[in-house]
Amino acid sequence: MTEHHLATLAVRAGQSRSHEAEHSEPIFTTSSYVFASAADAAARFDESVKGNIYSRFTNPTVRCFEERLAALEGAASCVATGSGMAAILATCMALMKAGDHIVCSDSVFGSTIALINRYLVKFGVEVTYVRPDDSEAWRRAIKSNTKLFFLETPSNPLSVIADIRAIADIAHERGVLLIVDNCFCTPALQKPFELGADLVIHSATKYLDGQGRCVGGAVLGNEQLVGKDIFGFLRTAGPSMSPFNAWVFLKGLETLELRMRAHSAAALQLARWLEVQPGVSKVYYAGLESHPQHALAKRQQSGFGGIIAFDVEQGRKGAWAFVDATRLLSITANLGDTKSTITHPATTTHSRISPAERERAGITEGLLRISVGLEDVRDLQTDLERGLAAVRAVAA
Ligand SMILES: *Cc1c(COP(=O)(O)O)cnc(C)c1O
Repeated sequence: MTEHHLATLAVRAGQSRSHEAEHSEPIFTTSSYVFASAADAAARFDESVKGNIYSRFTNPTVRCFEERLAALEGAASCVATGSGMAAILATCMALMKAGDHIVCSDSVFGSTIALINRYLVKFGVEVTYVRPDDSEAWRRAIKSNTKLFFLETPSNPLSVIADIRAIADIAHERGVLLIVDNCFCTPALQKPFELGADLVIHSATKYLDGQGRCVGGAVLGNEQLVGKDIFGFLRTAGPSMSPFNAWVFLKGLETLELRMRAHSAAALQLARWLEVQPGVSKVYYAGLESHPQHALAKRQQSGFGGIIAFDVEQGRKGAWAFVDATRLLSITANLGDTKSTITHPATTTHSRISPAERERAGITEGLLRISVGLEDVRDLQTDLERGLAAVRAVAA
């Protein structure tokens, strides 16, 4: 199906109809499979014949999701996992050993940093954190034992952009693998493999589902790294995706491109509007001409996504007053949903890091993050106006 465009692949790829000739993809809720004979069972176990064995690592509904996502990202292989964090864990467990070194962006999902600092380090893995927007810092961080580079772009919540092509080139000069967590853009807006990435990670929980229903994840890459190495870890350790969740995600993929275009259009409109509102001191959104990496974002993304961060005046008091004055936005730290959400990073997603580190990372007390959903943008703007009125009331 590789001759087709993304929207077609999102609807069609990966499906193989059963003898029932169903039109929509079925959910195979079975833990195990029956073999035709003792010889057939042996052949499946020794992998001389490909086929279903046990749903920890082979399930038709999960495979449909994997093949569909692989088609969208342009990857040879995909392994689905029980969560985005399980995808990162499986990748590190399969590809790293004691004494290896990982270079990681200092602006990645908080649990990713916790996974490295609390657990991988315990097993003798070394880590260096660098800024995602300073490509040369990645070169300087390389040591003789460096195995992996790990980054997210755009970053959460400040939309800092990493130059995937430049960082991939630096990695490959030294035999290092580049992993890109493509959660914020999805393949609808950014294709990391075309820019040189070796592996792509997803939290399917966010935009792949896009409707806030299930937790899941995936790793994509070539047949050796993903189809053999990471699949081998999944088969053995079992952080697998359930067939039901896979079905929800593969149905989510069918509307991915439409949704990402709508999220991006509404977010750009609101970011432009926020930028000129009294009470807002700064807006972070790569679609704005004022964003220092707007040109890079335009080059490597086909849209800017649904996440906006902005600073309001009056610090925490102003930010909390804003949050509490909204009536439509959901107060939740989740993102990538049809429902718009608002969060105060300093006291939620980034509360566990020290105030000094937070300040250095630009997570101020007045910073708010919104994930722009699919409600009518006029209603969202009205809700944000309520928030801004509350900030001005704090100031008065
Ligand atoms: C949410 C998230 C994860 C973790 O995914 P879970 O499905 O919650 O385990 C990883 N990376 C990014 C960028 C995320 O937003």
